[in-house]
Amino acid sequence: MDEVVLPWSDTQMMIIVDKAECVGCEECLHVCPAKSILMKSEKADIVQHRCDQCERCIPVCPVKAIKIVSVQLK
Ligand code: SF4
Ligand code: SF4
Repeated sequence: MDEVVLPWSDTQMMIIVDKAECVGCEECLHVCPAKSILMKSEKADIVQHRCDQCERCIPVCPVKAIKIVSVQLK
C-alpha cells in the first residue's frame, strides 16, 4: 500500500504489533520485504522507519496480533 501523507493531514497510518497477543512464531518476519520486523524478548517488534506499510505481515499472523492503526502526528 502506498501512502500519501497530505500536508494538511494530522494523522498517519502505522502497522503495530499487540505484544500481549504475539506468540513469537516469527511468521511475520519471513514475509516482510523491508525486513522491518525484529524479535525483542520473543515478541515481534516493527522498526517503523523501515516499514513501507505493504500489509503483508497482517494476514500471516495466526493470532491477529498485527494491526493497522491511525496515529495522531501532533
Ligand atoms: S507492513 Fe510490510 S513492511 Fe511493514 S512490517 Fe508488515 S510486512 Fe513489513
Ligand atoms: S506472526 Fe504474529 S504471533 Fe507470530 S511473531 Fe509475528 S506478530 Fe507475533
